[in-house]
Amino acid sequence: MITKKCLVCKTKFIGRSDKKYCSDQCRNVYNNRINAALSKDIRKTNRILRVNRDILNKYHLIGMEQVSLFSLISEGFILTYFTNMYKDSEGKEIYFCYDMGYQLSDNETVQVLEKKKFEKNLMGQLP
Ligand SMILES: [Zn+2]
Repeated sequence: MITKKCLVCKTKFIGRSDKKYCSDQCRNVYNNRINAALSKDIRKTNRILRVNRDILNKYHLIGMEQVSLFSLISEGFILTYFTNMYKDSEGKEIYFCYDMGYQLSDNETVQVLEKKKFEKNLMGQLP
């Protein structure tokens, strides 16, 4: 038993060397803070992924399969956020945001793809 300082309320207490909090209450406060920060980060990431997915889906619904990269980005699409990446038979990456995906072409256009159309071809790569 040694004298310790609580990580939450800074009160000094006597306890085992691995004890970090003076009480269950302070331990709960600490864990809630960590969970709140994590939830905020997860919500932010989910929001970005959902925006990406909805932009792709919008083009899919109006039958536009080729979209300029500039259009996507100016609508708020963030290329570095995706849920999965697969490679087609030629080894080219297809990035998915949930059920919608895209593939970059050389001329700065994007091919919009629906995941279910590729599920047969991508068997083995899909979770
Ligand atoms: Zn405390």
